[in-house]
Amino acid sequence: MNCSRMQRSVPDLWINDLNFRRKAAVEMHLSLCPACRKWYVIWQNIRDLGWEQIRLPQRLNWQPFNQALEHEIRHHIQTE
Ligand SMILES: [Zn+2]
Repeated sequence: MNCSRMQRSVPDLWINDLNFRRKAAVEMHLSLCPACRKWYVIWQNIRDLGWEQIRLPQRLNWQPFNQALEHEIRHHIQTE
């Protein structure tokens, strides 16, 4: 699993939309890849704001949100 695929999987992790094998691959990748761990922590912070209270539609198009967020995160990491 590469980083961009991994990072796309994070929202699915929350809504339990990952099958067992893919979930294991995500967790394995997280344990090996500091960049994706950082990404995951950022997502967790967002979730901790109360996102889990929001009922997500079954099929949600995360792409525009991911792209905007990724842009923000890259900017944040670069300027850190
Ligand atoms: Zn990675």
